[in-house]
Amino acid sequence: MTPLPPVQLTHLPAGGPAIAIHGGAGVDPASLPSVQSAAATAALEAAVRAGRAILDDGGAALDAVCASVRVLEDSECFNAGRGAALTIEGTAELDACVMAGDSRSGAVTCASGPRNPVMAARAVMERSDHVLMAMPSLALLEQWGLELVTPDYYVTEARRRMLEETSSFLEYRHGTVGAVARDASGLVAAATSTGGITAQLPGRVGDTPLVGCGTWADDATVAVSCTGQGELFVRGAVAHEIHARLRWGGQGLATAVRETIDELVGARGADGGLVAVTPAGEVVLAFNSPGMYRGYDVGAGAVTAIA
Ligand code: ASP
Repeated sequence: MTPLPPVQLTHLPAGGPAIAIHGGAGVDPASLPSVQSAAATAALEAAVRAGRAILDDGGAALDAVCASVRVLEDSECFNAGRGAALTIEGTAELDACVMAGDSRSGAVTCASGPRNPVMAARAVMERSDHVLMAMPSLALLEQWGLELVTPDYYVTEARRRMLEETSSFLEYRHGTVGAVARDASGLVAAATSTGGITAQLPGRVGDTPLVGCGTWADDATVAVSCTGQGELFVRGAVAHEIHARLRWGGQGLATAVRETIDELVGARGADGGLVAVTPAGEVVLAFNSPGMYRGYDVGAGAVTAIA
């Protein structure tokens, strides 16, 4: 039997307000030019700081995760918003989801138009009676007060080259951005945003916009944001699995995360990772891929890493 790729895991003990982010598990640190890794590190730090500033002001976990994800969406370094991975037809189709720990959630899939898909997901949650909207119309996004961009805004030269060099979706050239937070009231939230996987078919939906698959939050258990080969995260309902292990399985966060990645992702031949925070402020960042862009601040300053 092929040995499972080892799960690398950072576990921070329960404390006060906390934020943890990821910029995707689809990175191989060994082949990342140093200028790109410096740019990504700076963007990760800015994203951690944006979320942390909200928590430090007594703001809500939901506002913190949206603030962090917006920074990552605006950065070309990551596969979300500008710099999204392209479909086989060279188009960008954006997916995003937000979830508050009281079960409110909103998501968009195959979207084009919002500069920040995470804010479109939040608008679905706050301004409609729905949870998930596919291809939301520009008129609706405008009515919701979202900043709109033309489709070429998302497309970068680097992603075009990546598509040219990718012969199949099965090469899994992917990424995603996400954040989880616990605020001063002990409430949690999660947000995730992605362009999906390079050379995916138009119309493909991965785990990111699906509640319980790539994104989950429950004020009684945990908030989770995932990244990785989305089909496996959908088949395993990975984010909800972490919640279920805490709620009914009595497992600790680190064990629940490690076993879930091993059993539902690694054992099925895939890679990925996630960030998670509990209402007590315990944080885990974990992945079984060669690297994962990530960062956190549990009250002692921003920490970031790639390898
Ligand atoms: N999970 C994303 C998707 O499958 C990609 C990623 O996180 O790398 O769309």
